[in-house]
Amino acid sequence: MGQGQRVKAPRPPIAKARERVSPRVKLFADSVIREMTRLAAVHGAINMAQGYPDFPAPSALKAAAARAVKEDYNQYEITWGSTELRAAIADKARRFNGIEATGEDNVTVTCGATEAMVATMLALTDSSDEVIVPEPFYECYIPATIISGARVRHVALREPDYGFDEEELKRAFSRKPKAIIVNTPNNPTGRVFSRSELKVISDLCSDYRVLAITDEIYEQIVYDGQRHVSLATLGDMADSTVTISGASKTYSVTGWRIGYTVADKGLTEAIRKVHDFLTVCAPSPLQKAALVGFGMDESYYTKLTQSYTRKRDYLLKSLESMGYRCLKPQGAYYILADFSAVWKGDDVRFADHMVKDGGVATVPASSFFATPGLGKKKVRLAFPKQDTTLREAVERMRKRTG
Ligand code: GLN
Repeated sequence: MGQGQRVKAPRPPIAKARERVSPRVKLFADSVIREMTRLAAVHGAINMAQGYPDFPAPSALKAAAARAVKEDYNQYEITWGSTELRAAIADKARRFNGIEATGEDNVTVTCGATEAMVATMLALTDSSDEVIVPEPFYECYIPATIISGARVRHVALREPDYGFDEEELKRAFSRKPKAIIVNTPNNPTGRVFSRSELKVISDLCSDYRVLAITDEIYEQIVYDGQRHVSLATLGDMADSTVTISGASKTYSVTGWRIGYTVADKGLTEAIRKVHDFLTVCAPSPLQKAALVGFGMDESYYTKLTQSYTRKRDYLLKSLESMGYRCLKPQGAYYILADFSAVWKGDDVRFADHMVKDGGVATVPASSFFATPGLGKKKVRLAFPKQDTTLREAVERMRKRTG
């Protein structure tokens, strides 16, 4: 070592560094879904774990994104979203969801629905609050609640059809929570809540003055002639609902991170404030391109549903023929498959075996539950995949368990 060179202090062991981590962060785990994606890459497995398409996005959207970059639309956008995109989202909210909204007062464009959820929680809840999260749940609701300091209270969505028990829900409301998270079409169960089920929730929200935060990201992926109903349109929920959705699933652009909230003006102001300091704005060229998506005509959505219906039916039939027990999804693009007839271990071992030796990545279902012991005999499979990918995944699973 030459003169004058400083001796580097040895790095503190990882355990020491962990002591510095905020206790809040220790309360939630890494995303299991995204961990399975990493494992899929390491083992060369087909990724049926994370819900994203392996087929191209619509070419009109891709061309618009390329054009926006070329035309130097590359700087910050207005924090809460470009004027034209907010106007398009408000228009879509009125036409499709039946929610009265303006881009000026009610819409905030975020970096995906996940940021919308975190920004909403941070803006509207704090440490004295409880938030009802139906279980099973999409995993981001838990960190979103914990990061904002609030406490999670679960109510069960029960098999066989993952409906809720009204009395149990009432008991949870009687504790005067601040908010309830409602996800329909539901991830991971595929449940689409009916108008009358949502009316039960909206009545309770009105009676107990509870906010509803809805995750409607799969609103355009609903099967067998069912209709998606937005909670914000029921009773007097217009002022007490934050409706979250985005471009990811509808336009097959999950990596673009274009999500949004639609909410009352006062709530929107608070959400915008938080969003501003979390991410400043969603990617500006992609906001331009997403606009093309919101301009698609009816035939696009009809084709989307038809295509996902075929994929759902194929995967469902294939899994059932191998001995898995599944609930037919009414919406979204996941199947929860019970493997107890074909495999003896638990879900984590099954998923581990399947990704390492079977060449297919799935999500162990226990990660969608907080109650110990639940989900232990199921895995979730995502089917927004090309037909060839689905066929290959089915063949690989058949070799292992069929
Ligand atoms: N919603 C997708 C899923 O459940 C994943 C979204 C994400 O990873 N941000 O797989």
